[in-house]
Amino acid sequence: MSLRLFSAGLLAGVCLTGLAACNDYAGESGSQIMPRAEAQEVPASGVGVSSDVVKLHQGMLVMDTHLDTPAYFHSSDYNFSKRQSFEEDGTHVDLPRMKEGGLDGGFWVIFTPQGPLDEASYHAARNSALMRQTAIREMAAKYSDDVELAFTADDAERIAGEGKRVVFQSMENSYPLGTDVSLLETFYIGGLRMVGPVHFRDNQFADSATDVSGEKFGGLSPLGEELVKKANELGMILDGSHAADATVYDMIELSETPIILSHTGVDGIYDHYRNIPDELLMAVADSGGVIQINAYGGYLEALEPTPERTEALEELNAQYGDPINMDEDAMNAYREAREALDAEFPPPRSTFEKFMEHLLYALDKVGPDHVGMGADWDGGGGVDGMSDITFLPKVTAALLDAGYSEEDIAKIWSGNMLRLMRQAEEARTSELSSPDVLN
Ligand SMILES: [Zn+2]
Repeated sequence: MSLRLFSAGLLAGVCLTGLAACNDYAGESGSQIMPRAEAQEVPASGVGVSSDVVKLHQGMLVMDTHLDTPAYFHSSDYNFSKRQSFEEDGTHVDLPRMKEGGLDGGFWVIFTPQGPLDEASYHAARNSALMRQTAIREMAAKYSDDVELAFTADDAERIAGEGKRVVFQSMENSYPLGTDVSLLETFYIGGLRMVGPVHFRDNQFADSATDVSGEKFGGLSPLGEELVKKANELGMILDGSHAADATVYDMIELSETPIILSHTGVDGIYDHYRNIPDELLMAVADSGGVIQINAYGGYLEALEPTPERTEALEELNAQYGDPINMDEDAMNAYREAREALDAEFPPPRSTFEKFMEHLLYALDKVGPDHVGMGADWDGGGGVDGMSDITFLPKVTAALLDAGYSEEDIAKIWSGNMLRLMRQAEEARTSELSSPDVLN
């Protein structure tokens, strides 16, 4: 989650494109790339993509490495099996829209906001993260005709080949582990396969890209180094999104397998703390890693809020204080007030074209073996022209237009991420397993 609450590029609740839903074609997706020559007659996409490109897109294994949708699972307003819409409720992902947009699945996030570094707060965060993991597993159980938990790269290909949606799990912010990295084993058994040490603030494991208080460790802390070793031992992919550049370098250096940046942009297009400079992009690629490009407006370009919005935000922040000090009730009240503010004074939005600039820049620098997509859906991602996952065929169309081959695009959509998954699996030394009790 890219901080829906505290950053400028927030859920707008308003879509400026006015585009309606996609076509009603929802062909079965699978791991095979469908040759374009075999494309059947299908309606042109409602998102302005030709029918042959929609067919090609639907035939690929399409994965996103940062789906924040589990944050909604506790909400009675959210129903995974019902087609909802960004224009009405600000959501990006549900089962009908996954079919429409040809999204086969990806990493569903166990996100925890950063809180105080003390035992009581660690325990509260741990309990909350375990409940979030339980919610993801309950979702997979409830919709077992359509989705399935994935524990390995092979699982993902099999599940998508059966026409179901793939549910990998990742952890955004390792804060809930407290000071005991062995707790990662418990999450692993529950299905966790990707872990990022840090979020918006420096924590017990690492320096964050966005902590304004400055460097705490100069990268990973000694506990953070233990976390990297534990993740390698378990066969998890390490995620450097939200980490300070120095932390990402440390992760590359220490990890036995290539790292991922599950939802990150590039300084080459917009110089921002949450994006990475060219030399770090090169270092990630040189070590075999992958950057998955974010679609979070505030990180794609400098977006200027209206004076009215700025004033309202200042008033809100003065009223509620620093979110890090809020208890759950205060956080809920703040969230409600913030949503009302966003509805009245919508945040500025970035565009599909700007998202593509980041994606094509990264591809140009490091090539199609090292780039993918992690849009931060339901965590603040989404732009004008790609307001939810039904617009994903546009990305395939734009990559074709830019001269990328079908094989390249298949790697971008999932091949690279699955390669990292397999490398993590091969390097694994732990004997633990995840019992597949749901199927
Ligand atoms: Zn995030």
